[in-house]
Amino acid sequence: MSTSNRGKVYLVGAGPGDVGLVTLRARECIENADVIIYDHLANPETLGWARDDAEIIYVGKTPGESRTNQNEINVLLLEKARQGKQVVRLKGGDPFVFGRGAEEAQAIADAGIPFEIVPGITSSIAGPAYAGIPITHRAHNSHVTFFTGHEDPAKAESAIDYAALAKLGGTQVMLMGVERLGSITSEMLKHGVRGELPVALVRWATTGQQETLTGTLRDIAQKAVANGFAAPAVAVFGEVVGLRDQLNWYEKRPLLGKRIVVTRTRKQASVLSSKLRSLGADVIELPTIRIEPPSDLREFAQLVQDSHIYDWIVFTSANGVEAFFNIFFKLYDDAREIGAVRIAAIGPATAQRVKDFHLHVDLQPKEFVAEDVVREFKKQGSIENLKVLVVRAEKARDVLLKGLSALGAIVDEGFAYRNVPETRDPTGARKQLATLGADLITFTSSSTVENFLALALPWPKGMLVASIGPITSQTARDKGLKVAVEAKRHDIDGLVEAIRDFFAGKAATKS
Ligand code: SAH
Repeated sequence: MSTSNRGKVYLVGAGPGDVGLVTLRARECIENADVIIYDHLANPETLGWARDDAEIIYVGKTPGESRTNQNEINVLLLEKARQGKQVVRLKGGDPFVFGRGAEEAQAIADAGIPFEIVPGITSSIAGPAYAGIPITHRAHNSHVTFFTGHEDPAKAESAIDYAALAKLGGTQVMLMGVERLGSITSEMLKHGVRGELPVALVRWATTGQQETLTGTLRDIAQKAVANGFAAPAVAVFGEVVGLRDQLNWYEKRPLLGKRIVVTRTRKQASVLSSKLRSLGADVIELPTIRIEPPSDLREFAQLVQDSHIYDWIVFTSANGVEAFFNIFFKLYDDAREIGAVRIAAIGPATAQRVKDFHLHVDLQPKEFVAEDVVREFKKQGSIENLKVLVVRAEKARDVLLKGLSALGAIVDEGFAYRNVPETRDPTGARKQLATLGADLITFTSSSTVENFLALALPWPKGMLVASIGPITSQTARDKGLKVAVEAKRHDIDGLVEAIRDFFAGKAATKS
């Protein structure tokens, strides 16, 4: 998009919170944007998709400060677009459902600037759904009303016609205004809505911090105060609220309420994060490592070019496989150029990456531990005088090199990539960790441990450590950490399973 010299504004719905509920179009806009202007209901995790050089501007509320006012936001949008930038205005939920998106669109249109609207999943529908409340049900209602509990303070009279609302019935969904729930419910009661009408409040819906409070029109306001139930929340009034007893699903998941830190590279994090999230965890993605090309790319490319002269290629990580074949297929247009070489891959994720390139894995040690490769090689026969290429990260442990050389092999090492500390934090994960804390931090390699500690962030109180396997655990212990959870199977699924079992065990001992 940056090649265009005409600025444009994309008014984009970021969905209600769960990153899985962001549309493909929204993601595309974020990936291409020159400037992203977002506020506090737009999940900052989505900013991880932005280009490295994108300008990211927060215009939401910060504690103790007032938010950027609407006029300033409009001015900012126009100014950036007039500079020829592709501007993404990222708003929580759907951009045209309350939250002043319509006014922003008008300001852009008035200025004659091209724009596009990207609808999002609104919290007014997703919130109830994640609380197990369908906003319609044939047996209960045939219409839904959305209203705001927080009106333009400049209006002289309330635009909410409570008499009409009372008569209308059906399902009513209120956005904003949980803090005014007392006066809103008493207006509804005054206008004849029955006191026993079921009501649900869903706060931080679709995120790992979701909480739901149910009651009746008569008691919900007082319950909200008693429970300190603060914004942002969606309120649902109607018989459909009762269906939650049967349909509540999201809040029953095993890791609900657990905040878990994922330290892998941003690119790799998503698999682990989404598995944890689908079990209900509130995930903070705090990448500690970034994958960069090796210091001597030329040397590695030479080894890739000559790969057919080897008897074996050993891949130690999925990143290595990826880096190897990226170069290989730039040099050759035929997979057969790899010759008769046999392939070993350490760990299932590495093997899978090889198979993705439609190549057979001849040797796959079960355990994700380099020492096992040496043992497996020993088992499968002599490798004396055979030529072996080990493809790995720069500065990784060289136990393989020694082990295979000791078996008489002629070993070359190819440094396919470099792990460098991640210094950027576009999603504000570090601040989130500092302010919210966490229950658990996951380490998927020794370098994630080392790089996380190198950031020298304060260790949140009570945060436990989960490790993918013995080598990573040992590194953690060497650095003075206590390991609470260690995966039995040393891959992502194994880690997720161990975390799930760990919290299930804790819950069992508590009750
Ligand atoms: N455009 C947004 C709404 C903006 S108004 C949308 O379509 O969702 C802001 C209000 O939205 C909040 O006061 C709250 O009522 C609601 N809201 C937004 N995200 C929410 C969430 N994750 N959980 C509960 N309520 C949310």
